[in-house]
Amino acid sequence: MRISKNTGDASDSMNRFNLKKLRQELEGRKTDNIYRSCPEVLSRNGTRITVGDREYVNFSSNDYLGMAMSGNLSEAWQRGLQIWKCGSGASPLVTGLTAAHVSLQNFICEYLGVEAVILFSSGFAANQAVIKSFCPSGTTIYADRLSHASLQEAASMTGARLNRFLHNDPASLKRYLEKGGTGLIVTEGVFSMDGDEAPLAEIIELADTYGIPVLLDDAHGFGVHGHQGRGTVSAQGLRHSDFDVVTGTFGKAFGTGGAFVAGSRTIIDYMINFAREYIYSTHMPPAQAYATEFSMRYVSEHEELREILRDNVTLFKSLMAETNCRLVNSENSIQPLILGSSEKTTMMSEFLREHGIYAGAIRPPTVPRNTARIRLTITAAHTEEDIVLLTETIREAEKHL
Ligand SMILES: *Cc1c(COP(=O)(O)O)cnc(C)c1O
Repeated sequence: MRISKNTGDASDSMNRFNLKKLRQELEGRKTDNIYRSCPEVLSRNGTRITVGDREYVNFSSNDYLGMAMSGNLSEAWQRGLQIWKCGSGASPLVTGLTAAHVSLQNFICEYLGVEAVILFSSGFAANQAVIKSFCPSGTTIYADRLSHASLQEAASMTGARLNRFLHNDPASLKRYLEKGGTGLIVTEGVFSMDGDEAPLAEIIELADTYGIPVLLDDAHGFGVHGHQGRGTVSAQGLRHSDFDVVTGTFGKAFGTGGAFVAGSRTIIDYMINFAREYIYSTHMPPAQAYATEFSMRYVSEHEELREILRDNVTLFKSLMAETNCRLVNSENSIQPLILGSSEKTTMMSEFLREHGIYAGAIRPPTVPRNTARIRLTITAAHTEEDIVLLTETIREAEKHL
């Protein structure tokens, strides 16, 4: 291989990609203040993370209940490793489905009151699999405008039409449904960037009226919401069997990783036979399934985790009321500070960083233009002092920015 001598990429001269064009696009992102790169976390301890040469209080993790850092869970994972060793070694249809996976599936069926469940390596893959399985070309996906990228992206791959209805607006959904057609309604329980909840009963009613199935992704509701953490559906007094397909990730409140799809026996059997993301992918490691079942049982039995979380959110909101910052209508962990411009958001994020607080700046294209924000997540693992430090620092930042 030839290595070019100039300062460009190694092997520039033989690269068959159009690197010049790619670099121009990257430069454009820098100009627009939306260039991305991943911080390296050097160590973690509870809500503390070390990045570079500094320790921060982490207000940007989705570990809502602190499970990812829990000693109980890591011990369970180690027990799983002793029993099952490491990788699953194959896709589920070959020999990758173990009793550990089936036990987790059975637990979720009972927990949510659904007939059948399958597991995926990520929520992203689970959502893509559902949409690709049930929304072939010629159908329509009716998705809330603020739905997660994994839900919207699949549409472009199947050739289905994508109708994005106004956020949490059943009347807007109805206008699309009135035009006729088949397909799938897609919504989240708790929205990942705004922390607000979908009007699920109204969506179900429209689904019944127009005969269109519904996919609910409750990535941010499971574990933290409803009776025993059964999610937004339970919090709103509905049943999971009111929905046609439900997806959830284990990477957030449950503190492990991977995801599930739940539905009727037929829906799940269909996916086992047709969903390429399921068929052609190595199954999640069995120890991870074992640990996830432990976590879900633990989370369901420990109501006090949800109580601490609620108290922390209440404390945060009451302290924020003394600032000029506008909060959105969220009673959940997810508390965005919408600042508008990417520049202002970057400045706020840097100010917080200088004061020992790690909070993610979320900028377009992840969120709509002019809604750049600091996405704060309040968790059950934060202490009162952490939350006071956060709100005091935001107040201080208001004076400077
Ligand atoms: C995080 C998230 C996903 C993706 O789940 P992963 O397991 O992280 O891939 C899907 N949907 C929503 C709404 C999410 O917030």
